[in-house]
Amino acid sequence: MYVDSHCHLNFPELAADLPAILDRMTANQVTHALVVSVNMPEWPGLMSLVEPEARLWASVGVHPDYEDTPDPSPEELVRLSEHPKVVAIGETGLDYYRLSEPLDWQRERFRRHIRAARDARLPLIVHTRSSAEDTVRMLREEKASEAGGVMHCFTETWEVAQAALDQNFHISLSGIVTFKNAQIVHEVAAKVPLDRLLIETDSPYLAPVPYRGKLNDPSKVIHVAEKIADLRGISVAEVARASTENFFKLFNKIKR
Ligand SMILES: [Zn+2]
Ligand SMILES: [Zn+2]
Repeated sequence: MYVDSHCHLNFPELAADLPAILDRMTANQVTHALVVSVNMPEWPGLMSLVEPEARLWASVGVHPDYEDTPDPSPEELVRLSEHPKVVAIGETGLDYYRLSEPLDWQRERFRRHIRAARDARLPLIVHTRSSAEDTVRMLREEKASEAGGVMHCFTETWEVAQAALDQNFHISLSGIVTFKNAQIVHEVAAKVPLDRLLIETDSPYLAPVPYRGKLNDPSKVIHVAEKIADLRGISVAEVARASTENFFKLFNKIKR
């Protein structure tokens, strides 16, 4: 059995096709998917998708790429996270690729999310792009290790992975690991301790080979597991077992 630790099933292109996606998950033995929040206006819709479906779980938070959007306080995030289907805070983090300075608002938002995760005693889902140094520094400054969490869709170097592991974080690999030119990610996939590894689709984006360029969905996470198994020289069953075990340990509100 497999789990998808990060997807955006509430995005319209996937939500419109939900019954078929759930059927494909069943066919591929993908038993659970974490539907990750990107902003507050879309959060009620995300929750109404997740609430009736035992295989789907949710996070609450605001993605760093959304500039002009309501910014919840740590107290508000904690309050919303008390819902039984909400198992993590995020996605949050820093993204210096899509936006440019001044980004103080983005760093302040990240700090508020780290505080919320510590207060709620829930894991943090961290997005980092072209900002690894600041991301790791802020995780340290705000004592994110007390909450722990995951560096999602990891594309940084092994040195950054080690710094995140030191802060009590897991490393989640997406379909990027199946791309031929992703040598840095291949190295991380081979080296990350098996008890800190998660797998994800980040769907609807980043469909793994052999679906590259097409619409992605949680059923395709099996191809991420297959490539990691290949890179580590272990069986896909072993990658599936470890990443599933880690998922339930980290997101410990999720019922199997
Ligand atoms: Zn992200
Ligand atoms: Zn995401």
